[in-house]
Amino acid sequence: MKIRYFDHAATTAVAEEVKKEMLPYFCENYGNASSLYDLGKKSKEAINIARGKVARAINAKPEEIYFTSCGTESDNLSLKGIAKAYRKKGNHIITSVIEHPAILNSCKSLENEGFRVTYLNVDKNGFINLQDLKNAINKDTILISIMMANNEIGTIEPIEEISKIAHQNNIIFHTDAVQAIGNIKIDVRKMGIDALSMSAHKFYGPKGVGALYINENVKFIPIQDGGHQEFDKRAGTENVAGIVGLGKAIEIANNEILDYNKKLLDLRKYFLQRIKIIPYIQINGDLENRLSGNINISFLFTNNKDIITELNKKGICVSAGSACSSGEIRTSHVLSAIGLSEGIARGTIRITLGKENTKEDIDYLVDSLEEIIKNLRIQM
Ligand SMILES: *Cc1c(COP(=O)(O)O)cnc(C)c1O
Repeated sequence: MKIRYFDHAATTAVAEEVKKEMLPYFCENYGNASSLYDLGKKSKEAINIARGKVARAINAKPEEIYFTSCGTESDNLSLKGIAKAYRKKGNHIITSVIEHPAILNSCKSLENEGFRVTYLNVDKNGFINLQDLKNAINKDTILISIMMANNEIGTIEPIEEISKIAHQNNIIFHTDAVQAIGNIKIDVRKMGIDALSMSAHKFYGPKGVGALYINENVKFIPIQDGGHQEFDKRAGTENVAGIVGLGKAIEIANNEILDYNKKLLDLRKYFLQRIKIIPYIQINGDLENRLSGNINISFLFTNNKDIITELNKKGICVSAGSACSSGEIRTSHVLSAIGLSEGIARGTIRITLGKENTKEDIDYLVDSLEEIIKNLRIQM
């Protein structure tokens, strides 16, 4: 059966060009980048080229880029590493209630170590309130971490305004840009970003490799002890093939960003037009400041587990709008935060469009949904 994939916020397929660049680093150029002979130097060189590509893509300096194992590690390292380096200055951190668990749980862990964390609420579209942010700041605030774009509802936060407020108060600003890379043009200098997390598998690169930008003027303490890799900031033998893949993937993503967004916006518009044939639906989140491929939609009087099971029978992959763990679907913290009732959240799915989707895929998706929703509602 043909697979129709609409879950690009969960992960993406590795692009062919990316795979091609990675292949030589498995069996031919397999040297350890720390080794002094030519085979090792080849790996080191490949890492440096990738570092340059990442830096160029976000207007950072190469020496401000650190490779990690994933977005989760980048989030952990930036929050914990920065918090610990500035502990003498203060112990207060500000974030939002709709962050990814990598941020929320890093904050929980820091709270256990004596830091204080303020979790800002969001409005019905998922935006933080800038006045709330200003009010939350006190003399102990050392770090603000607000995601660039939300993974469930696609909301794009007002990053430049947030960074301005942070800097007026001499506070470091980190953003989880895992969903934003390839979708939003990022210039860390213009946008005033001090630290930024990314993950290759969210932009057609391989799984298991991420990167972290930390401005040269920001201090951070490593959280993993070991060798001298990554400027003494992230120990462990580098995932050379993965890093090469990340570099190639971000280069492509940046080159294609305009066409990519246009394509996804057109497809989304088409979906939103066609989906109107189904009654009792609701689109969640803002439609303006939103990732172009994100659709978060509630089908009233249904439940998402059944929708996903039935779509899967037709080869369609979508995600629950609610966090799913061990087969059990709980109400998502993001949907609760934007005020969705449990009943409506239960019938919510997330559709995230990507490169390989076509109008024909959308037709198939909408036709399938129409049939499935009708049947589910009859059974209810
Ligand atoms: C996927 C994701 C992460 C985690 O990245 P991994 O590489 O899967 O660990 C963090 N933040 C956001 C917003 C994400 O979407």
